[in-house]
Amino acid sequence: MSFFSWLANGLGTLIGVVANAVVTTVVDTVRSAYNAFVGSGGAVKDVAAQESRNKQDRLREVNDEIMFLRNRNMSQGGLADGERRRWNSLREERDELLGVLQQAKEVKAAEKILESEAVLEKVEVDLETTHVLQYNAFADTLGKQCRCCGRPMKLQWQRDLNVAGPNDFFWACTGWYVPKGQGRACTHKEPLQRSDYALMTDTSAPEFSVTADEFGIILEDPGTSAIITTRVNDLRSDLTSKNKGVELATCPVHGENMVLRKKSNPTGLLDSYFLVCPRWKPNNQGCPFMEKLKSGSQLAALLKAETGRGIL
Ligand SMILES: [Zn+2]
Ligand SMILES: [Zn+2]
Repeated sequence: MSFFSWLANGLGTLIGVVANAVVTTVVDTVRSAYNAFVGSGGAVKDVAAQESRNKQDRLREVNDEIMFLRNRNMSQGGLADGERRRWNSLREERDELLGVLQQAKEVKAAEKILESEAVLEKVEVDLETTHVLQYNAFADTLGKQCRCCGRPMKLQWQRDLNVAGPNDFFWACTGWYVPKGQGRACTHKEPLQRSDYALMTDTSAPEFSVTADEFGIILEDPGTSAIITTRVNDLRSDLTSKNKGVELATCPVHGENMVLRKKSNPTGLLDSYFLVCPRWKPNNQGCPFMEKLKSGSQLAALLKAETGRGIL
């Protein structure tokens, strides 16, 4: 089941909330779907979180075994019948696990919305508020599926821009990251619908009290930039020591939480960090799913989600 008739994410944001909808009415809709889920015995809160961790552990084992068979297939030029059957059943199990984990993400997103009701507001994304959209692009979008292949789609934008305008955003199929023959499994892209610019989100973050341009200028300040670098470095050491990925961003293929990494010779703050699938390996040997953290908004969302405080 889905809690939302809108797109959502783990930051407690809904995308595509119609202009004349009232926040409390929207939240009430989420609340009744959530209560119905609880009433039907659905796992929520700590129980759901524990279940989710167990499924993630199993998912890692399944991915390990799939990787092992894949490598064996490549090195030996084929698999025995039994191995091939095993490979197929593992892939089915992975799809099932991904479905269950998706449901758990929806539960969590609904809880986030219910607990932050008091600070939720509607934001119509325009020239001055594109950083709000970019902030939300950090987290997995729930409910946006590719109409060609059914894979999840990701909110993207022209990465070479310092400050992206509303029309620089688009949806891209995550099948782009799945190799198929010499090409990619799906290259479908689509422009944002008008409704995609209507968000209902937690606007209490200080980053949203300035315009997208002002936010860009603040980040150019060397003092600010140094503080953010220290905080992201600290977060990275913390996650690395716990062998953990980031909570709200997962690889669409493997379903595992993305790992925060730092470039060895960055040219500045917005060239320093990226997220990779834990199955990533150098020289195209592993999963190619990677996301560069090239905007202050993404770094703010990362820090806010992981540490409770953004960058301003
Ligand atoms: Zn697709
Ligand atoms: Zn992956």
